[in-house]
Amino acid sequence: MVIIMLGAPGTGKGTVSGMLSDKLNIPQVSTGDIFRKHISEQTELGKLANSYISQGKLVPDDVTINLVKDRLQQDDVQEGVILDGFPRTVKQAEALDNMLNNLNRKVSLTVNLTTPEKELIERVVNRRICPKCKTVYNLILNPPHNENICDNCGNELVKREDDNESTFKGRLNTYIQETSPLVNYYENQEKLFSAVVSQSINKMGKDVTQDVLEYIKKKHIT
Ligand code: AMP
Repeated sequence: MVIIMLGAPGTGKGTVSGMLSDKLNIPQVSTGDIFRKHISEQTELGKLANSYISQGKLVPDDVTINLVKDRLQQDDVQEGVILDGFPRTVKQAEALDNMLNNLNRKVSLTVNLTTPEKELIERVVNRRICPKCKTVYNLILNPPHNENICDNCGNELVKREDDNESTFKGRLNTYIQETSPLVNYYENQEKLFSAVVSQSINKMGKDVTQDVLEYIKKKHIT
């Protein structure tokens, strides 16, 4: 099973991916997490990625595609994978179709999350993440029990450097221009499941995760 998560920054891709990963027992692969690891280790890839990420821009397609190509060869993702944040351009989506084709696999489902724009910025600036186990918190909607400490593993929580108001605007624009065409791309392939994640309708990540799991069951998606 290959599940893709689509959505603007702050819609909850990471949260829903994590829950789906637990329930379906398949790994979550986040290109953003891979880049952040390289940045913290100050590798050449990390330095390159940071020059784009810090401006709210996408890391170039060829770099990102090669990274995912290597990751998809690894043993742990052969039974299934949740791609959190890849593809983000039509070029990446076409490359993914080719990669999967060569591995005799295909995209099973694309989960497209949407959230009213005014809620997105609030979520992004209040987001804290555990760098160790990747659990995502929100200081208002979903705070940790002890301030700044991960409930799950006890590690200290951090705020992503790109989770500030000015970078967010760039990321949202990048999403609209470069990533949102993928909604049509997967809709045309009849692989799209769209869901609204919003406080205003009291529907959050865990509810949407449940809806996705029911849809997978109903449609016999493998
Ligand atoms: P995320 O953690 O998914 O929000 O990603 C953080 C940042 O990493 C993005 O704003 C991009 O700069 C970069 N990034 C993550 N995934 C991709 C991708 N598929 N293509 C290009 N850049 C990416």
